[in-house]
Amino acid sequence: MSRLEFSRKTKAAIIARAAGKCEACEAALKPGGGEVDHILPCALGGEPTIANGRLICRVCHAGKTANDIRSIRKADRSRDKATGAIAPKQKIPGRGFPISQKAAARQPKQQLPYRALFKPVDERNV
Ligand SMILES: [Zn+2]
Repeated sequence: MSRLEFSRKTKAAIIARAAGKCEACEAALKPGGGEVDHILPCALGGEPTIANGRLICRVCHAGKTANDIRSIRKADRSRDKATGAIAPKQKIPGRGFPISQKAAARQPKQQLPYRALFKPVDERNV
């Protein structure tokens, strides 16, 4: 899958819509400044359209790109787990040592008989 860049026309429309301001933080941009950004990243299915594009300043773009990369990597891992490309993590092995002689010789506790919660009616002193 190749990256789909904004066409010249789309970029021009986005820049005109922004009217010289960053569309994320409202900072004023120099003419020709700012970067056209995919709101939904291309790797996550974002289209290069006017609706999915915005003009943002360099600072906003750097921060957003870092977050986008994290989301894209997470999506990649989820897809790989679902398709079986990543093997499941190993199961933690059980105790690797034998039971001591003393513990093995210990008698299990004897259970006491259950005590009745209620006495039968004919035994009551009425
Ligand atoms: Zn900004």
